[in-house]
Amino acid sequence: MDNKSDLRGERALVAGAGIAGLAAAAALSPYFREVIVFEKDALADEPQVRMGAVQGGHIHTMLRGGEAGLEVLLPGIRQQFLDNGAVELDMGGDYRGHDGGEWREQAFLDMPILMMSRPGYEQVIRNRVTALSNVEIRSGCRVSEILYQNGAAISVRFLNGEDEAVETGALIVDARGRGSLLPVELEKAGFAKVPETTLGIVMTYVSGRFKQGPDCENPNLAMLVRPTAPEPRYGILCPIEGGDWMVTLGGRADTVPPTDYEGFCDYARQLAVPDFYNVFKDCELVGPLRRYKKPTADWRHYDRMENFPARLIPLGDTITSINPTFGQGMTLAVLHALALKAALDAFDIDEPAFANVYFEGAMKVSGAAWQMAGASDLEYDFVTGERPQGFEQMQQFSKGLKLLANNDKDVLRTLMEVFHMERPAADLRSPELAARVMQALGS
Ligand SMILES: Cc1cc2nc3c(=O)[nH]c(=O)nc-3n(C[C@H](O)[C@H](O)[C@H](O)COP(=O)(O)OP(=O)(O)OC[C@H]3O[C@@H](n4cnc5c(N)ncnc54)[C@H](O)[C@@H]3O)c2cc1C
Repeated sequence: MDNKSDLRGERALVAGAGIAGLAAAAALSPYFREVIVFEKDALADEPQVRMGAVQGGHIHTMLRGGEAGLEVLLPGIRQQFLDNGAVELDMGGDYRGHDGGEWREQAFLDMPILMMSRPGYEQVIRNRVTALSNVEIRSGCRVSEILYQNGAAISVRFLNGEDEAVETGALIVDARGRGSLLPVELEKAGFAKVPETTLGIVMTYVSGRFKQGPDCENPNLAMLVRPTAPEPRYGILCPIEGGDWMVTLGGRADTVPPTDYEGFCDYARQLAVPDFYNVFKDCELVGPLRRYKKPTADWRHYDRMENFPARLIPLGDTITSINPTFGQGMTLAVLHALALKAALDAFDIDEPAFANVYFEGAMKVSGAAWQMAGASDLEYDFVTGERPQGFEQMQQFSKGLKLLANNDKDVLRTLMEVFHMERPAADLRSPELAARVMQALGS
């Protein structure tokens, strides 16, 4: 940005170059003369599953709300996803969903989504952010601490190999993901304890990449087989770049999908419908079967602290790390970055409204995602965490809604738009829709 009066500061610092850190850098770039992103992993030029983002070996869906948000931050990125091999599919026509014990109606909804591997999405976003003239990504630099003075974040201490150094910045974004030690660091620096909400979800995922054969009937086919509690097994598969399917099997509590090929196939055969296994049974497994265990879903309520530091923005999984079944994490990171952009658009970073606007926007989307993912987790009796008041009625309502959506294209579209974080969940509670849901439930 050339116009100095629009600047919010000389330099902004971002810890972490995952989806959240990259989206944040794109939001910060117009408002700071310089943006430095520190990433502990040594980043490669090619998409790869890396230590700092091991979840990249598992299925990742960029929801439509996330894609639209990225398009605001990095115009033209949709086309770049396509240029880099993203598979475009229709949420209704290509995406088959077996949910609540029956197949959803399969109908073209004109709701395209772009599917890639997570390393694939990240690489395209990183290339765009790297091309921003005032953004520098320092690969192989681990932030060891954020430093504070007079109640505000002022610098980061980082390690580049053996060398330790400190960089100062006017605004600091923590995008170190679910492993961020920010709550511990804040307490150590004399700030209050960060209130947290935790659900003991105990989920395990095992995923592999399978080459689609030459006889593949619909290379754009994606499929979700989601069980009804207490059944623990589920499966998701989707096409990704390079003519592959990414296949993920999930299990709850002690039910853990195996990482050997035969065991993986056996587990897939035990899903509620044979169709899932049939999609990839004749395809060649390329690369390893990877396992990821997620014991908890966590929400850190930085916004509820009375003395949260000024000039510090937590963003992405650093705030909320949820059950990925609904594929919301990357989209949340992008929507948090949009909330940051809205705050930067309107306020100087030292105005109280700056942090308020950011947290209000970020918490609204985190809350919506948390509610959706949490509601399905809490259906399982073993999951620890507080059930909201009226939870049983909520469960009934969502069961009725699914039944209705399975056979009604308009309801399915509304439900999908809410899932894709394009519209608020409140739209599912209109009196007219509520009456139809009650009818579907036979009451
Ligand atoms: C099995 C599984 C499947 C998922 N599926 C989906 C899906 O379908 N759709 C979806 O949207 N989301 C999905 N998610 C969630 C998604 O991966 C995350 O929500 C999202 O990637 C969050 O991005 P982030 O940038 O906040 O965190 P991360 O991706 O964890 O990135 C944090 C970054 O910070 C770096 N870092 C950490 N510590 C430091 C440090 N001290 N100094 C410097 N750098 C540091 C890390 O190396 C990493 O690059 C899934 C997650 C799992 C586990």
